[in-house]
Amino acid sequence: MRRLENKTCVVTGAARGIGRAIAARFHEEGAVVIVTDIDEAAGAATAAEIGCRFEPLDVREEGDWSRLAKAVPVADVVVNNAGVTGFEAGMVPHDPEHASLADWREVHRVNLDGTFLGCRYAIGAMKGAGTGSIINISSRSGLVGIPGAAAYAASKAAIRNHSKTVALYCAQQGWTIRCNSIHPAAILTPIWEPMLGTGPDRDAKARAFVADTPLKRFGRPDEVAAIAVTLASDEATYVTGTEVVIDGGLLAGSAATPG
Ligand code: NAD
Repeated sequence: MRRLENKTCVVTGAARGIGRAIAARFHEEGAVVIVTDIDEAAGAATAAEIGCRFEPLDVREEGDWSRLAKAVPVADVVVNNAGVTGFEAGMVPHDPEHASLADWREVHRVNLDGTFLGCRYAIGAMKGAGTGSIINISSRSGLVGIPGAAAYAASKAAIRNHSKTVALYCAQQGWTIRCNSIHPAAILTPIWEPMLGTGPDRDAKARAFVADTPLKRFGRPDEVAAIAVTLASDEATYVTGTEVVIDGGLLAGSAATPG
């Protein structure tokens, strides 16, 4: 028996990276997967490769969510995965002293507003059956401060907290609609491209990004997808309002230990 047999699963930002890996793995596990993304060409191509359906969705836009609710009125699993760092168009200051209000807001619009709207859609799509699983992709950056990525860290911390609110609200209503967050650290996807660059120092930069990670490597999207499958499945029916960290051991300790 596959682990998500016949479950209808919506994944946002699934054209590439972690979202794509989750969509592909859910499909393998027997789910009816709806790939969504703001990038319609890439999203449609990914859906065709996986063998599932595509719906265009900009997670910032309430109207897009209303359209999705008509197209996919019932869902068993919703993964709010779409997210941005703020560095997509190039490296701009995102520290607390120099970040612009516009850049701060734009990161929150995608990461936080998008997750709020996604949770609201999910509740509407699940409450008929009174059961389901909402999975919000936060980050290890939502658990610690990140001096150079203030908006990203704040938005991801807010996703963690909102996931708990959603979990408690759904339980209060008497529904078994679960809501949990996943907190990956460095997972090698296109999100890293602006930070790694294409110069001769690319490999050195990549090594530096994971130098403090006990497992000394980037994680893979399929390793995040494996966690998502468990949270989506009926193996996790007593798991709600919590978080799963997948970080190669990064947050297990501190560099400031006695030698
Ligand atoms: P990615 O950049 O490779 O993919 C992100 C996808 O989201 C893209 O397909 C993009 O088109 C889509 N997207 C962007 N804005 C959107 C919008 N407004 N509406 C709908 N779709 C939109 O990124 P990734 O590494 O796969 O990251 C996926 C999620 O995992 C993000 O929330 C990210 O913050 C989180 N995360 C990633 C890492 C990592 O190291 N890769 C670590 C922690 C958390």
